[in-house]
Amino acid sequence: MNIKVVTQILEWNEDCSNNIKEILKRKNVYLINVMGSPGTGKTSLIIELIKKLKDKYNIAVIEGDIAGQIDAVKIDALGIAVVQLNTKGACHIEAMSIKNVIEYFDLDEIDIVFIENIGNLVCPAEFELGEDLKIAILSTTEGDDKVEKYPLLFSKADSLIINKYDMKEYFNFDDKRVEENTKLINPAIDIFRISTRTDEGVISLVNYIDEKLKILNK
Ligand code: MG
Ligand code: ZN
Repeated sequence: MNIKVVTQILEWNEDCSNNIKEILKRKNVYLINVMGSPGTGKTSLIIELIKKLKDKYNIAVIEGDIAGQIDAVKIDALGIAVVQLNTKGACHIEAMSIKNVIEYFDLDEIDIVFIENIGNLVCPAEFELGEDLKIAILSTTEGDDKVEKYPLLFSKADSLIINKYDMKEYFNFDDKRVEENTKLINPAIDIFRISTRTDEGVISLVNYIDEKLKILNK
């Protein structure tokens, strides 16, 4: 195990995210930004997607965390290229850090890069990272009022994953309420009900990402 650990650089974001888009477009790399609360299942989701996509695509992961490298170790164990991005207390990732980190990957060989953003429903949504796809995760254990309370992330996401769907009865989670409130602020969003524990619905998300890459590589 030899995981690269990088510290976040805080600089102006906008030009930088456009710059990342250009670099990755040239290299035909698809960048997916995964956002959601601590414990919502970001790492588990990324792991399940890796397992189902890795035979077809070369994948790399940027693990954002305030401290430590617990999740990066899990990704590394799958034999996937991973860089741990430590923000040292900052509660979101900025584009300058992503630009810095992608230099550690062999972009000629990579098709998909996942960013696991800092566990936080608030400010990660404010920062463009040059990504092609923004995935928001909300799990049934967090409550069905989160779209109303934290609208920004759900209004900006391309897709919403309702995770731990197998647990919804135990937590009285009204997924229709979540769907309605999300569509109200983001009519074009694609919504997936999944459980990374039982594997329910995961394949539909895999196919969705696969379709996005087909369009990109046309
Ligand atoms: Mg995680
Ligand atoms: Zn923040």
